[in-house]
Amino acid sequence: THDIHIIGGGLAGSEAAWQLAKRGFKVRLSEMRGSGDMTPAHQTDGLAELVCSNSFRSDDDTKNAVGLLHHEMRRLDSLIMRAGETARVPAGSAMAVDRDVFSAEVERALEEHPNVTVVRERVDTLPSSGPAIVATGPLTAQSLAESIVGATGQDRLAFFDAIAPIVHRDSIDMSKCWIQSRWNKRTAVSNEDGDYINCPMTREQYLAFHQGLMDGEKTEFREWEADTPYFDGCMPIEVMAARGVETLRYGPMKGVGLDNPYDTSPEFPQGRWPYAVVQLRQDNKLGTLWNMVGFQTKLKYGAQIELFRTIPGLENAEFARLGGLHRNTFINSPIVLDRQLRLKGSEHIRFAGQITGCEGYVESSAVGLIAGLMAATELGDRTWTAPPGTTAFGALLSHITGDAQADTFQPMNVNFGLFPPLHDVGKKVRKEAYTNRAKSDFGEWLSSMEAVPA
Ligand code: FAD
Repeated sequence: THDIHIIGGGLAGSEAAWQLAKRGFKVRLSEMRGSGDMTPAHQTDGLAELVCSNSFRSDDDTKNAVGLLHHEMRRLDSLIMRAGETARVPAGSAMAVDRDVFSAEVERALEEHPNVTVVRERVDTLPSSGPAIVATGPLTAQSLAESIVGATGQDRLAFFDAIAPIVHRDSIDMSKCWIQSRWNKRTAVSNEDGDYINCPMTREQYLAFHQGLMDGEKTEFREWEADTPYFDGCMPIEVMAARGVETLRYGPMKGVGLDNPYDTSPEFPQGRWPYAVVQLRQDNKLGTLWNMVGFQTKLKYGAQIELFRTIPGLENAEFARLGGLHRNTFINSPIVLDRQLRLKGSEHIRFAGQITGCEGYVESSAVGLIAGLMAATELGDRTWTAPPGTTAFGALLSHITGDAQADTFQPMNVNFGLFPPLHDVGKKVRKEAYTNRAKSDFGEWLSSMEAVPA
């Protein structure tokens, strides 16, 4: 007998189990590793195994969004942060851990907790009743993935991410680019001037850029990813470039229908279409983040920054996220989940962790934590109040559950571009201003939560 069933004993599932158990609820935690199953990336049977790097990234809670998320998680007595502290190894301002000590510590805490039963089993279908949290991660077992597709629809579950770089809007030099939609086409939600930022290129610039794509250092696919063919709409930009020097000019970089207001050379009067163009499209409701349309790539991060900063207008671009392409199972959360991470139409099921479309160890754990809190509030018959959007928890949650553009939804790390902007604060002190505002608002939210006994 249990109050809630959590599927997946990774980072999110372990954290959710802890938050619920602490509040007196009995948890069944199902983890397929240890029952004869394995994912292609995990190596052990340990709960909360870190599959790649051993870093939780920056621990600076004064200037860094992920450091701020650490801070907020600690204030909620996060198990992942606790175990991370026990397993911590020196890493400058970053928080890095001994992965074996870390996983063992998470497992010990849960195994010893009287309210948690860890069961080594694979779950193949979404539970038909009872509260449940699905936290099966980016490498969710195939059978369960099929069951999720059955509940959400075929096109609501992705098996690969196709990540185009995302740029902070205030780092784009608008004296070199302009806003316009191709052929000035509009939809009901269009902005008056147009929906795209266009960065124009001359022939010389385009050819150099094309060469840069060909020459840039690429990341290899892992063995188990390599035999999955590219599908439409997520071919890496450099693969398209390799098909011929003109291919991109007939694809994502085509200039037709766009009137370059800067091209005033006598032989081409103002308004001529640019030779080539890089287009950026708004990525979040706040308008602070813009994605480079069609620029999913396997170029290494350093190579991306170097090459993409040669694009007119992006010379000083700050990237909220760089491009990538990996195997990654995630649902289109802005469409299929409600604001409390519940599956619309099957509200007894919550999703948590990377499968909701957050990205990274810390973010996955954080979404596990908040899903655990939401479930505990519901089980305790209390009213849930979401953390304010000015906090790291609130910003991440708002993004996943509705503020991100559903048609370009891709996994996202926490970053200040997800926070309501502070335009009137000088750039040098803006990051501190974000964290100060967050800490104060988080404190208020927490005390309002504490006013309700756990
Ligand atoms: P996981 O930690 O993967 O946990 C999901 C758990 O569910 C697993 O234990 C799995 O065995 C179990 N499971 C799956 N299906 C079933 C089922 N049907 N029944 C029962 N159990 C099931 N993030 C970083 O910050 N840094 C990195 O370096 C990094 N590297 C990554 C490398 C790879 C190859 C991948 C795929 C992802 C990486 N990530 C990285 C992204 C992400 O943060 C991690 O994958 C993170 O572990 C996600 O946490 P999670 O709890 O959502 O999923």
